[in-house]
Parts: sequence; C-alpha cells; structure tokens
Amino acid sequence: MVERQVRTNSPEETEALAAAFGRSLPWGTVVALFGDLGAGKTVFARGLARGLGVSEAVSSPTFTLVKEYPLADGRWLYHLDLYRVDNSEAALAFGVDEYIFCQEAVTLLEWPERVEDLLPPGARRIHIRRDGESSRLISGTDVDGV
Ligand code: ADP
Ligand code: MG
Repeated sequence: MVERQVRTNSPEETEALAAAFGRSLPWGTVVALFGDLGAGKTVFARGLARGLGVSEAVSSPTFTLVKEYPLADGRWLYHLDLYRVDNSEAALAFGVDEYIFCQEAVTLLEWPERVEDLLPPGARRIHIRRDGESSRLISGTDVDGV
C-alpha cells in the first residue's frame, strides 16, 4: 500500500483530479472523504460525479443526507453528507447500509468518521487538507493521481 499526496491549486484542479479518480473505480466502491468544513469534499464529489458522467448540478446533500444520481448504464452514484448524523446507529436508522453495501453504485461519503465502524475494508479513504486560500493537500492510499 502506497500513501500518495498531491497538491491542487484551484477547485478546478481538484475536480479534474477527482474525475480521473472516479473513472478508475470498480463498482461497489465506497469513497470516504475526510476533511474539515470547507476543505473541498463537495468539490471533489462534484469532480468525481463528472468523471462518472453525471451532468446535473452536484451540491452537498447537507439536509437530505443523500443524493442519488442515476448513471447511463443503470448504476448509481450515491453522495452522502453525514455531518448531521451523530453516529453509525443513527445512520443505520435511515438505511445507510443500503448505500454503503450497494454493488451497483459508487458511494461517496462526506464526514465518514460518523460511520467509521461501518466502512468496508476496501473503502478508499481520501483526506483533503486546506493549505492556503486555494491550495489543498489531497492524500489517499494506493490512489493513482491522488
Ligand atoms: P467541504 O465539502 O469539504 O465542506 P466544499 O467543497 O463545499 O468543502 O468547499 C471548498 C471551498 O474551497 C470552495 O469554496 C472552493 O471553491 C474552495 N477551494 C479553494 N481552493 C480549492 C482547491 N484547491 N480544491 C478544492 N476547493 C477549493
Ligand atoms: Mg461538503
């Protein structure tokens, strides 16, 4: 396992990186996006959605918890924002497992620490850190291009 780190210098660069990352993912992958408020998790999610062919606008489902994007081949991108969810018990109460264990989807989690004990062993953990006004450090394990 190789931990890699990349610096991006604009939201567009983060989106492009995430789009390339998204295109290489096997179905059933959970992408866990760690980072503080404003780090760029939703920007990353937007790029990943583009990479999977989503054309509709992508914003964080902060109040709805989950947004489901149908993809061309009948599969799904699930985008969850767990900021307002206390813990995995609360997440299971709304059926988070249906998303996390779906093999016909890529499932993206903002605030995955809320459900740390539910993350599958193969989850791709990405950390985004602010490193200046428009600079971000993006790191992950065994990630090509991230
Ligand atoms: P989060 O979802 O982690 O709370 P957002 O993605 O909603 O954060 O917001 C990130 C903010 O940081 C946006 O306003 C975006 O324009 C800005 N930003 C500046 N530079 C970058 C960068 N290199 N990558 C991603 N976002 C950036
Ligand atoms: Mg967000």
